[in-house]
Amino acid sequence: SGVDGSSAHEEKILVSVRLRPLNEREVSQNDESDWECINNTIISKSNERAIPSTGYNFDRVFGSEISSRQVYEEGAKNVALSALNGINASIFAYGQTSSGKTYTMSGITEYTLSDIFNYVNKHESREFVLKFSALEIYNECVRDLLTSENTNLRLLDDPERGTVVAKLTEVTLRDWDQLKELLAVCEAQRQIGETTLNEMSSRSHQILRLTIESSTREYSTSQDSDILTATVNFVDLAGSERSSQSMSESTRLKEGCHINRSLLTLGTVIRKLSKGRNGHVPYRDSKLTRILQNSLGGNAKTAIICTLSPAQSHVEQSRNTLLFASCAK
Ligand code: ADP
Ligand code: MG
Repeated sequence: SGVDGSSAHEEKILVSVRLRPLNEREVSQNDESDWECINNTIISKSNERAIPSTGYNFDRVFGSEISSRQVYEEGAKNVALSALNGINASIFAYGQTSSGKTYTMSGITEYTLSDIFNYVNKHESREFVLKFSALEIYNECVRDLLTSENTNLRLLDDPERGTVVAKLTEVTLRDWDQLKELLAVCEAQRQIGETTLNEMSSRSHQILRLTIESSTREYSTSQDSDILTATVNFVDLAGSERSSQSMSESTRLKEGCHINRSLLTLGTVIRKLSKGRNGHVPYRDSKLTRILQNSLGGNAKTAIICTLSPAQSHVEQSRNTLLFASCAK
């Protein structure tokens, strides 16, 4: 069924790059695409010296003509559906504002959830319970996206479950329609934030999580009465333009923005994990990495889709994104 595709030496972090098409504004300003995608490699047309002559190599490179369906199939599906087998999973969209993170994540989220619902309906020998929650991290504050009430949620350390978000709404799902309604609530909650604070969407991280619990049914003759629990996290990250490590202190002051602690810490955590060394992984340094700790590293599976604007005017940011992607690999 494609769900059991996990082998022992399969890599834990799947890193893809997705180039979006030029948008209307860019076309009207005679901006041009600076990038070319050939055979899982992406090459800058304007500045070949800035990148290795072979280009960057990633697990997948999706050119601007590739559909979200295909990005899901090749860049996220195996990772996401491993949660059906009890393995925690996280799917991230990383990139500068306007590069296509939300566009990419919403497609992937919908395709994953649809596949999970289909799987659950087909596998009647097991009993499944699906639970949904959604949160946003802005300035290291955690906000519930399923209600307007919980605006500054605390993180607690639970001896069994690890870090939990206290009082976060968690809805046990009845059916697909209810899930669609909840996704709409999240979207609305996110937009309420945006009108109060204009830049919120580019500076906040959104995590949608589905928890899958399953057990063999009582009438089942199967000997293994196993219980499986796993979470799949869909993470639409803050715009990467504000957390660039290379940004000078004066630029930062001038632009009135401080480093996004969660995004920086995530970068460090992912680099450490991808090196596969046993040393200290600083999960506890940010809210994002604390919340995702059980779904990053260890036995968990991770996919990162790095989204790029093709525009020449964005070439510096695109290069930073590719650098992040190649460090994650
Ligand atoms: P971000 O979340 O990174 O700020 P968005 O996902 O909001 O960026 O994308 C910015 C705009 O570009 C949106 O209007 C979106 O619909 C469009 N867009 C992004 N990626 C694609 C794509 N692959 N194909 C077509 N349109 C896209
Ligand atoms: Mg967005």
